[in-house]
Amino acid sequence: GSLLEARTLHKSYGPTPALDGADFTIHPGEVVAVMGPSGSGKSTLLHCLAGIIRPDSGTVRYGEHNLTTMNDARRSALRRSDFGFVFQFGQLVPELTCVENVALPLRLAGAKRAAAEARSLEWMERLEVAEIGAKRPGEVSGGQGQRIAVARALAGAPRVIFADEPTGALDSLNGERVMALLTEAARDTNAAVVLVTHEARVAAYSDREIVVRDGVAREMAGTV
Ligand code: ADP
Ligand code: ADP
Repeated sequence: GSLLEARTLHKSYGPTPALDGADFTIHPGEVVAVMGPSGSGKSTLLHCLAGIIRPDSGTVRYGEHNLTTMNDARRSALRRSDFGFVFQFGQLVPELTCVENVALPLRLAGAKRAAAEARSLEWMERLEVAEIGAKRPGEVSGGQGQRIAVARALAGAPRVIFADEPTGALDSLNGERVMALLTEAARDTNAAVVLVTHEARVAAYSDREIVVRDGVAREMAGTV
């Protein structure tokens, strides 16, 4: 069955539409790259799909849920329980250690510290950053910090991982490693990944590509 569905999404911040038509379906376990030039509407599309902003018209369905009509409190709860997020910068809490950062969503969901940190360490091992658990984000490299962010997104067992330029601040070797680890882990857990990128070498990790141009999102021919 389908996991996430966009139907005729439109969103404007001013006179010019930021998003002017998006229709597609994402299935469990799929890695979908959203590509397009800067300002084309990729982030707006990602934020609509993740229930962070509401489109002006159109529908986003997640399983049984209509994210477009759901109230803010329920959407927030659903984001926390079912979605994971990875961004380019500034997502780790500088005052917490790396393992505390990974464990934070589990702690907020009510897990006890020992259980949350044990589960976090499993993901950190998988992302090859278990040894930096006691360090703070300011003491680790960009590539390590981004792996910590990926471990945090995965530790909550999300059904969908939204990643907005997750490798944008990394050199190509670290970027490819982060993408390989993220997509492997997502496939193993049957989570879908919606990945915004403008880099072809990052999109190469996806199963399908959706190209956004002037707010219009189109399935790239030949990738289905
Ligand atoms: P991309 O992620 O492809 O760079 P965005 O979705 O961020 O594109 O932006 C699409 C268009 O909407 C751009 O013209 C951008 O300037 C505009 N835009 C995005 N967010 C806002 C906002 N919060 N307020 C006003 N305009 C915005
Ligand atoms: P609320 O808006 O109800 O306070 P949160 O701020 O806890 O909800 O956000 C829930 C999830 O959505 C978090 O994982 C967070 O990273 C993500 N999120 C919230 N705001 C944004 C945003 N402006 N851009 C991208 N992701 C966001």
